[in-house]
Amino acid sequence: MGITVLGSYNVDLMSRSPHLPAPGETVLGGPFQLGPGGKGCNQATAAARLGCAVRFMTKVGNDSFRELAEKTFRSENFPIEYLLISDKGQTGCALIVVDQEGENSIVVAPGANMDYLQEDMDAIEASVAGSSLLLLQLEISMEANKKAIEVAQAYDIPVLLNPAPYRDFDKSLLKHVTYLTPNETEAESMTGINLRIESDFLEAAKVLYEMGASHVMITLGKKGCYLYSGGQAGELLPGFQVKAVDTAGAGDCFNGAFAAAILAGKSVSEAALQGNAAAALSVTKVGTAPSMPNSTELQAFLE
Ligand code: ATP
Repeated sequence: MGITVLGSYNVDLMSRSPHLPAPGETVLGGPFQLGPGGKGCNQATAAARLGCAVRFMTKVGNDSFRELAEKTFRSENFPIEYLLISDKGQTGCALIVVDQEGENSIVVAPGANMDYLQEDMDAIEASVAGSSLLLLQLEISMEANKKAIEVAQAYDIPVLLNPAPYRDFDKSLLKHVTYLTPNETEAESMTGINLRIESDFLEAAKVLYEMGASHVMITLGKKGCYLYSGGQAGELLPGFQVKAVDTAGAGDCFNGAFAAAILAGKSVSEAALQGNAAAALSVTKVGTAPSMPNSTELQAFLE
């Protein structure tokens, strides 16, 4: 069995820029790139390229970007029956600016990603019930996420929640979350703890663990990630040193690669190490979904 990734599909409209525009400023940038993205799509792509069987369930508009979504489904071998089409919402879009240091600034217009209807809940149930792991983010309708968690709980299926982009949600859901993967900002928003030094990571991870998640991994950009699974101490798993050209999608790559490793039977810390390695590779390339490495690239990097 494989994983269900229930999440967003967005078209990424990306331009390089000499610097991130200040309020009111227009910057002459370029080149421009258009491609598949969205946290769900990126994470599904990362897992699939590392050999995992993936059902990617997402919802797009009945517009010109729908074709791009269909093309992604074909090229990544995602079963097309899990591509839902909204009658009224537009396909989600992400407007991304990347500066010379690889730092980014992003606005997401979620469109159809928020348009889940009652009839879609049955499709969610059918997909999640036949999976070995459920992977979720916060970039689609919370009703859809709640339904998926409910089904996972009923069938005793582990849940990996990447609480991004962060927005307020019902924290009681964390009792059903096996793996929780906030980045630093998300961990700060969820706990109110300022993350500066390693003892802060432990304190925040403990709070998230107390909320119900069995394993907490706080991703720390180039520093790697902090893993906590209960007890006195956590573990800082250092990141891999690479020359970053575009960090957009690094967190997504981490999640997809982590999920693929868990499905392959690896331990949580081995899976987090695979997440760090794959995500480091992804920041050496431009783009989000297109920058996800495959198994051959990952193996060569780790040798
Ligand atoms: P994004 O929003 O840019 O997709 P994020 O903020 O969700 O990313 P980060 O914590 O920045 O997530 O990065 C996720 C993982 O990617 C890190 O845990 C690390 O393994 C890897 N990573 C990110 N940036 C770098 C970097 N510059 N060099 C090496 N690895 C990196």
